[in-house]
Amino acid sequence: MEELLIISKEILMQLKSCEDEKNNSSDKVISDEYLSVLNCIFPTLLEGALDLIDNSSVTRIECPKGRSIYKVNGSMGTVYTVMGSSLYCTCPTFYYSCVKKRSHAICKHLLAVYLAYATGTLKHTTLSNKDYALTLLDN
Ligand SMILES: [Zn+2]
Repeated sequence: MEELLIISKEILMQLKSCEDEKNNSSDKVISDEYLSVLNCIFPTLLEGALDLIDNSSVTRIECPKGRSIYKVNGSMGTVYTVMGSSLYCTCPTFYYSCVKKRSHAICKHLLAVYLAYATGTLKHTTLSNKDYALTLLDN
């Protein structure tokens, strides 16, 4: 399980860095080769995460203090909070599969956050420090 978490973190960081490499390009498409790699590592998550990307479901919320979280509109309409750097999501799948059973390293919402960077589909919102704090308390 520990190895899967390490590999997952590495793959997610590579996905996020795709945005930096493609920053000056309009081409934000992940290669078929890389999608095959992702499908090998996250076979049960990739399709759902790509659906979330297709629906522009990922928003990065920032505050003036420089902190940020992500909100992901789940496939059933529920909005989940994702903390990218600590690989945490508020969805029930994350709790049962990643925390309790430890059968997975991440959930599809976490994967979708990093795919949003790689595909250039990440939306951005800035809140006041107070509203940002209130957003955190909603969970
Ligand atoms: Zn999740």
